[in-house]
Amino acid sequence: MNDVFLKVLFIGSGITVNELDKHMKKEAGRMNKAINYSKSCPECGAPEANGLDCRGQLEEILAWEQYSPELAEQHFWTVACFNIQHPSTITDDSWRGLCAVFCEAYDENLTVKDIRGQVSSRTEGAARIKRGVAAKPIAREWAMAISEVYLAGEPKGAADRVRAWSKVIRKQIEDFL
Ligand SMILES: [Zn+2]
Repeated sequence: MNDVFLKVLFIGSGITVNELDKHMKKEAGRMNKAINYSKSCPECGAPEANGLDCRGQLEEILAWEQYSPELAEQHFWTVACFNIQHPSTITDDSWRGLCAVFCEAYDENLTVKDIRGQVSSRTEGAARIKRGVAAKPIAREWAMAISEVYLAGEPKGAADRVRAWSKVIRKQIEDFL
């Protein structure tokens, strides 16, 4: 991505020049790395991008939310999709609970407020959400993973890609329940 294109991308997004400079330096460093198919996630199968594993890619996407209200609106879906595709860090019950909330929210087109109510009522009383010790990676073949949302560091269009990711997971999830 060249600098002019990057500037165009961020005009009107509220990002400061200083932040933009920092972003550009980071971007320049990335160009050499991009996608590494030889290192892929043992759970969702996504390749490393810019030297980042799935969690690293998630953190970058979440950081973009501060510049994109549209992406910030998708926060629940971004995190839910990630957790559904990385079940080893949460208990099986929490994973199933999350899948149920996800499907209901998707099918009923729930608002973020409705979803919050669902999440707290379902997790209330749950002894533990995170596993004490992470389980062995649970490998499942998904048609879309986080690397296709992250796109080697491309914030433009990320909200649309999160929507596409949710759609793919909603369609496939029944096979894994
Ligand atoms: Zn992964």
